[in-house]
Amino acid sequence: MPRKTAHRIFNLLIGLFSGAVLYNQLTYILTFAVLCLASARLPDIIEKPKNKYHRGIFHSYFALAASFLAFAFFSFTPLSGIFYGYCCHVLLDKARSY
Ligand SMILES: [Zn+2]
Repeated sequence: MPRKTAHRIFNLLIGLFSGAVLYNQLTYILTFAVLCLASARLPDIIEKPKNKYHRGIFHSYFALAASFLAFAFFSFTPLSGIFYGYCCHVLLDKARSY
């Protein structure tokens, strides 16, 4: 499965699941999931992949921690789906590299 498709499917499913856990309104859940899906490719847009193991500052543990902290800080709003999607992208890339 191409990497782009894997990120999109993973982020949509995890966004729907996590949105359902975090929020109890359908509009919040869908907003969270759509933003999570939209930000699924953000790290690769910011930092173009040069090879199969592309790892720069935007795919580092620092970026992972920063995006998770931003998600935790803004988790009261479904707009935090942007940070959650970024975090999931970096996690998925790290999982696929081992
Ligand atoms: Zn990536």
